[in-house]
Amino acid sequence: MAIQTINPFNNKVIKNFEEMTPDAVDAAVGKAETQFHSWKKTSYEERSALLHKVADLMRNKKDQLAHTITLEMGKLLAQSAGEIDLSADIIDYYATNGERFLANKVLDTEFGEAYIKSSPIGVLLGVEPWNFPFYQVARFAAPNIMVGNVILVKHASNVPQCAQAIEELFTEAGAPAGIYTNLFLSGKNASLLAADDRIKGVSLTGSELAGASLAEAAGKSLKKSVLELGGSDAFIVLEDADIDQAVEWAVVGRMNNTGQCCVASKRMIVLDAVADEFLKKFTAKLTGLKVGDPMDASTELGPLSSEAAAVQLADQVQRSVDAGARVVIGGKRIDRPGAFIQATIITDLKPGMAAYHEELFGPVASFYRVKDEQEAITLANDSPYGLGGSVFTSDKKRGENIADQLDTGMVFINHPTWTQPDLPFGGTKRSGYGRELSSLGIEEFVNKKLIRVS
Ligand code: NDP
Repeated sequence: MAIQTINPFNNKVIKNFEEMTPDAVDAAVGKAETQFHSWKKTSYEERSALLHKVADLMRNKKDQLAHTITLEMGKLLAQSAGEIDLSADIIDYYATNGERFLANKVLDTEFGEAYIKSSPIGVLLGVEPWNFPFYQVARFAAPNIMVGNVILVKHASNVPQCAQAIEELFTEAGAPAGIYTNLFLSGKNASLLAADDRIKGVSLTGSELAGASLAEAAGKSLKKSVLELGGSDAFIVLEDADIDQAVEWAVVGRMNNTGQCCVASKRMIVLDAVADEFLKKFTAKLTGLKVGDPMDASTELGPLSSEAAAVQLADQVQRSVDAGARVVIGGKRIDRPGAFIQATIITDLKPGMAAYHEELFGPVASFYRVKDEQEAITLANDSPYGLGGSVFTSDKKRGENIADQLDTGMVFINHPTWTQPDLPFGGTKRSGYGRELSSLGIEEFVNKKLIRVS
């Protein structure tokens, strides 16, 4: 994939970037490793001050950065601005709480005194996706820089200006060269780089294929990986739920970021007693969305991130329809330039159909009618993915009981799966392993050293 900015609103190429030469990559890794030996000796105060500065700069430049996000991957401009706020909040969160999370943990041991000391492990490689180009980087970079690690970021090839802008924020905030380095690299070369001895751990958010490739390379050279891959979250609506509220959240859960979220509410699983009402109201909401330029504040449905993404999603819908699924609304590309696809609801889905098993990364909701709670749970778990999920009910205990039976990393009751700095994020099954955000996210690339004093 060429490294370039293409505006998905009209598919026009805006700017091309060169992939780094092997020598340039080698020098960047070398600089990062050299810098690590100084950075690991800095105090938490120093690291925290740097991160707070980066967060401040991010907020000061919010309009400009949001514009770059929307230009490169088509997110609605207001959502891009929201992403900048969230990213700055994550960076501040680790700057404020990191030292506490990493404090020595005294062990209750029978003999002598013992404690666990957290220390950095070195240079890390993060491979990041385009869907939240600032947020995804923030949740990898901030905790690890606070730990005392240094990072290399290989960002998605369709968001090079976002990638450069993040590196510039660190430079402008006064980060010594080598703390945060943007690498213009292909995905394949990022996996090859994972074998470099100077790199001590890798983290990837993206597709299963990319995750497996990077983790294989890391595994072969015995280094740790964290993977945050796809999802196909169930959005379960019980018969005792507030249906209007559930529909409102279904629209947000499915349509946020034009449906391109790993934790989007992709499978609506509704109990028979309220299925007709839910579907009627949900259909009405999706039908009325105003299609247009994501830079325009009145637009409600923008383009997908790229032409390739729109082609792939339309093909998944078509393959499902060919196999017997029924389109309730939408299902087609929108007849205008750009990576547009209609807001879609698809139903009558059965095992074996594309939409039953595959992740639908865009504004396409799968709708399932089930007879009871047990069938809802069984269907929700019949997915290769295990990222998030949600349950809508007026009985919280019932919701928690269902949450306990869902094979995922996260379950929200009466809310779509969401993200905030202080809640852990990650999945099970083919959605990956490891956690980001919260106190758990800062512990992934840390040497938990036991010190015992006799
Ligand atoms: P990819 O997984 O291809 O891209 C994510 C990141 O991985 C990019 O930086 C990409 O680089 C990199 N990458 C690609 N191949 C490799 C490789 N062999 N080794 C190491 N890194 C690699 O996602 P796509 O953009 O192609 O999207 C495809 C699907 O992935 C989506 O439809 C969705 O299902 C899923 N996805 C999930 C995301 C999530 O948030 N969990 C985010 C994005 C995608 P490059 O851009 O240079 O190819």
